[in-house]
Amino acid sequence: MVYNFSAGPAMLPVEVMQRAQAEFCDFNGLGVSVMELSHRGADYIAVAEQAERDLRELMHIPDNYKVLFLQGGGRGQFAAVALNLMGKNAKADYIVTGQWSRSAVAEAEKVGQVRVLDGFEAGAEPKKLATSWDLDPTAAYVHYCPNETVEGIEYDFVPETGNVPLVADMSSTILSRPVDVSKFGIIYAGAQKNIGPSGLAVVIVRDDLLDQACPNVPAIMDYAAMAKADSMLNTPATYAWYLAGLVFQWLKEKGGVEVIGAQNKAKAELLYNYVDASDFFENRVHPSARSWMNIPFQLKDESLNDAFLKEAKAAGLLALKGHRIVGGMRASVYNAMPIEGVQALVDFMDEFAKRHAK
Ligand SMILES: *Cc1c(COP(=O)(O)O)cnc(C)c1O
Repeated sequence: MVYNFSAGPAMLPVEVMQRAQAEFCDFNGLGVSVMELSHRGADYIAVAEQAERDLRELMHIPDNYKVLFLQGGGRGQFAAVALNLMGKNAKADYIVTGQWSRSAVAEAEKVGQVRVLDGFEAGAEPKKLATSWDLDPTAAYVHYCPNETVEGIEYDFVPETGNVPLVADMSSTILSRPVDVSKFGIIYAGAQKNIGPSGLAVVIVRDDLLDQACPNVPAIMDYAAMAKADSMLNTPATYAWYLAGLVFQWLKEKGGVEVIGAQNKAKAELLYNYVDASDFFENRVHPSARSWMNIPFQLKDESLNDAFLKEAKAAGLLALKGHRIVGGMRASVYNAMPIEGVQALVDFMDEFAKRHAK
C-alpha cells in the first residue's frame, strides 16, 4: 500500500483511475477510446456537458456564472484573468500571501497597473492573515489565493471587497469544502490537485465580467469567446476534461463537498494535533491560517530530514519533501487522500521520532 502526498500533480481516487482503465480502449461500447472521439460529436459533447452539470451541482454554481474548461493550467489563468478584466480599467489590487499569489502579480503586471497588498497583519508572529486591506474601490478587481500550496496557508473566510469583483486562485482548494460562489467574480483552478490531470484549468466566471477584455487577449484565453463556444473554440483537452468528469462523479457519490469537507477537516486535525503535541516536529503557520490541503511540518533536528524521507518512502509514504523555499516536509492531503493515509503518516512519524529520540 502506497500513499502519495504529492502537492501536484497529486493522487487521484483509485476508483476513478480503475474506471478510466476499464473503458480506456472501448468507451460506451463505441469500440474507440474517449480520447479518440471528436469534440464536436454527440458522444463527447455528452461527456463534456455531464462534467459541467456535475461541477455546477457540487459547487451550487448560480445560473449567472459560466463554467469554462480551458488549457494552460493555473498559471495560464494568471495571464488570462488580467487580459480578460483589464480592458476598460487597467488597475487591480493583488493580496499577496505567498508564492502563488506573488507569481500571479508578475503576470498581471505585464497587462496593467497592479497594487500589491500585504495579506498579513503587521507584527503578528507567527503571521496572521489580515481581514481588511487598503483596497482601491475603483480597481477592476481584487485577486487573492485562498490556499497557498507552498506555505500551507489557507483563508477560512472570504475577503470582503465591496463592489469590486473578487478573483480567487482556488487551484489547491477547489471542491475541498463548501464555498459561496456568489461572493466571487471569478474562481479558477489548475486541475492537478483536486480535479484531475494537469494542463486543464476550470474557470467559473460571472456573466457581467465578460465584456471588459483587452483587445489583444489571445482567443484561447478569451472568456467571452470561450463561453460562446462552450470552451471549444479550439480542441479542448478532451481526455483531461473526461477524467475531471469522473472525479466529479466520484465526489458526488461520496456525498459532495459538504461530506468531503468534514473529512478534510478531520484529516488536517489529525496531523496538526499530532505535530503540535510532538516535541520532535513543528508547524510554523498560525493556527487560524492552517491549510486543510497542504500541511508543512519541520523536524526540529533538520539533520534527520534525509533519513525521514528515505524511511518514509520505504514505508510507502511518498513525496513528503517540502518546497525548497519552506524546507522540511509537506504532506498534501487533497480530496483523494483517505484518512487512513494520514493515520499511516502519523504512525510513521511517531515511530520515527521514538527511534531517533536522543
Ligand atoms: C499548482 C498551482 C498553480 C499552478 O498551476 P499550473 O497548472 O502548474 O500552472 C497556481 N496556483 C496555485 C495556488 C497552485 O497550487
